[in-house]
Amino acid sequence: MNYIIVGGKVLVEEAGDLVVREKNIFVKDGKICAVEEPSKEACESTDANTKNGGMDANVNHGRTDTQKDVCADDLGMEKQEGRQNLKVADFELVDASDKLILPGLLNMHTHAYMTLMRNYADDVDFNEWLFKRVMPVEDTLPVESAYWSSLLGLMEMVRTGTTTFVDMHMFEGMSAKAARDLGMRAYIGRGLVGEDLYVDGLSRFEQMLREQEKYESDLVKFAIAPHAIYSCSPKLYEQAAKEGEKRGLLLETHVSESDFEVDSTIEKYGKTPVAVLADTGFLTERTLLAHCVKMRGDDISIIKNFGSTVVTNPASNAKLGNGFAPVTEFEEAGVNVAIGTDGVCSNNSLNMFREMGLLSTIHKGVRRDSTKAPAKSVVRMATANAAKPLCRAGLLGTIANGAEADLAFLDLKSPSMIPQNNLIASLCYSANGSEVESVMIGGKWVMQDRRFPGIDEERVRYEVEQLAAEYLKK
Ligand SMILES: [Zn+2]
Repeated sequence: MNYIIVGGKVLVEEAGDLVVREKNIFVKDGKICAVEEPSKEACESTDANTKNGGMDANVNHGRTDTQKDVCADDLGMEKQEGRQNLKVADFELVDASDKLILPGLLNMHTHAYMTLMRNYADDVDFNEWLFKRVMPVEDTLPVESAYWSSLLGLMEMVRTGTTTFVDMHMFEGMSAKAARDLGMRAYIGRGLVGEDLYVDGLSRFEQMLREQEKYESDLVKFAIAPHAIYSCSPKLYEQAAKEGEKRGLLLETHVSESDFEVDSTIEKYGKTPVAVLADTGFLTERTLLAHCVKMRGDDISIIKNFGSTVVTNPASNAKLGNGFAPVTEFEEAGVNVAIGTDGVCSNNSLNMFREMGLLSTIHKGVRRDSTKAPAKSVVRMATANAAKPLCRAGLLGTIANGAEADLAFLDLKSPSMIPQNNLIASLCYSANGSEVESVMIGGKWVMQDRRFPGIDEERVRYEVEQLAAEYLKK
């Protein structure tokens, strides 16, 4: 289905600035084919719709009478090169009056299967959290459990405006299946540990390649994800980097999350984790470095020189007592920064609005400077910045001609969005995710009026509750 989305306020880049403007968005074959000034006629025709239930009436019931009122000429169709062959009858009209339309947010580091462990290991120290709570559960979980817990996590992400996520996983096939079934855009990384990718890591790597063959699609892609320098050798990182280059895969890893990690790496290798990774060839423009909390020496300039992207996880890093990544210093050094939630067991949510708000307020506080981490920069971290390491700049995290039609529709009548003094500030400081009403990914409605067509939500809830009762020790 192709859509003409009219009457909404749209977050767009204009002359290098992020702004909110009234625009019509044309969606064809899953992509945005035009973003235009609203015509007077189109606005008038949608007024009638608003009275009849607004966007939902259109979204849920297909073509409307109003659509007949919109003529091709009114919407500027058949006028511009690139849209010459479009006929208005091929489009369904979506009335987005009182909606703010964002490019879908990108959650650049999470572990979707950990949703099962929500509120399971809180208020304990990091070692107890990881070694006594998380790992023993992971060792007993059946593979299928990851499907239901991932699906629940994906639903939470979409409910709060996220359309793309980057996962790190031991059951990557289940995560990929959940993304496929929901219709979410995903980069699924196989968590790797060990000394040698082709010896102790071989079965995991081969499994990843099988899952890739089975599930890879326009929406679901795969990534290579060595876990961390304390669980992987430099040799494995080097092998992973070469495989990533050979196969054109995204690279992701955890880096410098805790003092323990940095101190033990310096003791073992005489260098920081960032410097060790730089030697292995793992730092590329396609590399995501999650956390980067404990930067020492030349770490920041090394990351900048290799063009890798830092994925900051403000809630997880603070909640696990690890501190705050030097996000404003990264920005000042010209390092590309994106945002992740990390897993639900350490956050305990997958809500990117919460991350944006936390990130900005934390760094104003840490730097004792309220001009740091301004709303526009933070919103960019959750959108356009994240597209760069995916090699999809201009195609994801932006509403522009040729971009993927990944859109989140927020209700501007929500109390948190009123008054509309500055909608970009609203996104960063006031919105909590509950404003998201509908979400489109690749031109398909994944969520409409907070419901997921094609997903048995009751079943997902039931399965996760059953798994939690069976596998989480109380
Ligand atoms: Zn993580």
